[in-house]
Amino acid sequence: MDDIVIIGAGECGVRAAFTLRKLGFEGRIVLFGAETMVPYERPPLSKAKAPEHKPIAAREAFEEAQIDLRLGVTVRAIDTRAKTVTLEEGASHSYGKLLIATGARARLFPGMDDCLTLRTHEDAETIMRHVEPAATIGIVGGGFIGLELAATAVKAGADVTVIEAGPRILGRAVPEEIARLVHERHAAEGVTLLTGTGVETVRATGVTLSDGREFCFDKVIAGVGALPNTALAEDAGLDVENGIVVDGSFQASAKDVYAAGDCCRFPWRGTPVRLESWKAAQDQGTHVAEAMMGTLAPYEKVPWFWSDQYDLTLQVAGLFDPRFQTRSRGAGAAGDTHIVFQCDTAGKLVAAAGIGPGNTVAKDIKLFEKLIEKNAPLDPDALADPSHNLKTFLKAA
Ligand code: NAD
Repeated sequence: MDDIVIIGAGECGVRAAFTLRKLGFEGRIVLFGAETMVPYERPPLSKAKAPEHKPIAAREAFEEAQIDLRLGVTVRAIDTRAKTVTLEEGASHSYGKLLIATGARARLFPGMDDCLTLRTHEDAETIMRHVEPAATIGIVGGGFIGLELAATAVKAGADVTVIEAGPRILGRAVPEEIARLVHERHAAEGVTLLTGTGVETVRATGVTLSDGREFCFDKVIAGVGALPNTALAEDAGLDVENGIVVDGSFQASAKDVYAAGDCCRFPWRGTPVRLESWKAAQDQGTHVAEAMMGTLAPYEKVPWFWSDQYDLTLQVAGLFDPRFQTRSRGAGAAGDTHIVFQCDTAGKLVAAAGIGPGNTVAKDIKLFEKLIEKNAPLDPDALADPSHNLKTFLKAA
């Protein structure tokens, strides 16, 4: 009865399983994953013509840690009273504590059923089979999936058109100034970007825009967002509202049931949020394991994510908030990194995004991340001036 059952063998579930062992959990850990491949990293899937299968941990590592990894197994139901999960083939399995780490799936709007989407390694292989020199590829959605795939496809010689319904690309994740730099780079690489253009109908090989224009492509890919996988939780009677509702310890609304990663909605600095990100899945996997072992510290990791397109790296720390003014820190000393940030009305840093060559962006955004973590008031005017060294703000905070 002390078994810990984890549903979902992605970044979060795997991280939680290994952390439980690291923290000395001696009971049985059963990790169910619907896919058959050894759990792998998803970030490489959109970034290369030949997507690498990069295991999160080797098969043997699961064996050494005595994690009972059950691949190709779908959990069909959870009974929170009996504390059991039922598998697709009918067998049931009892748990002492349960972690739901079912992640998210690609969203599709009605009529989009015939286009390709990207979530799994298999999806990436299918997409990349169509990414050939001179192939015409239509991508619906100018978010991270759409743009990373556009960069990969154009580098492979394809003729790429991105269709974004919003007034600009990356509307959800980054401020306009950064999105504009990304847009310009794609245009310079030969990608056709259509913004402010909804789609009326989408076929496997064509798109009709809401203004009536028709486009034919060899293949259409949709990257129009992700939806949390919450059906199991809903059927089990757990609170679900744009994600499985959890508290700061990732405890769901039934005893001994936890949820973490892309599928959950958790409080961050008092506001409920749902994050779709590799880093959050890792951080939450670690935190939920600690919580399952009895540690009750609040989750305070600053949201962080990155995207690579061409030789550009984009990194974001914190969550941009439309209520606050976005400031630019301009180009760094080398003139090659551009950073924007927001402070709240008290001068506390809320979020920062940087774009430029990988190393420089990573160093700067790391410092911004630490400043967000400190949650202390700063002088936004000084922060906007690139001649002020970021480290001095950290020392003062
Ligand atoms: P997204 O939400 O980032 O972007 C979707 C885009 O599609 C938005 O710009 C939206 O305005 C647009 N859109 C929505 N409906 C549309 C329509 N009918 N016609 C045209 N455009 C439409 O989602 P995504 O890019 O699909 O990514 C899916 C998931 O994968 C997300 O969870 C994302 O965070 C994750 N991901 C992350 C990274 C990264 O962190 N580097 C990279 C790839 C994917």
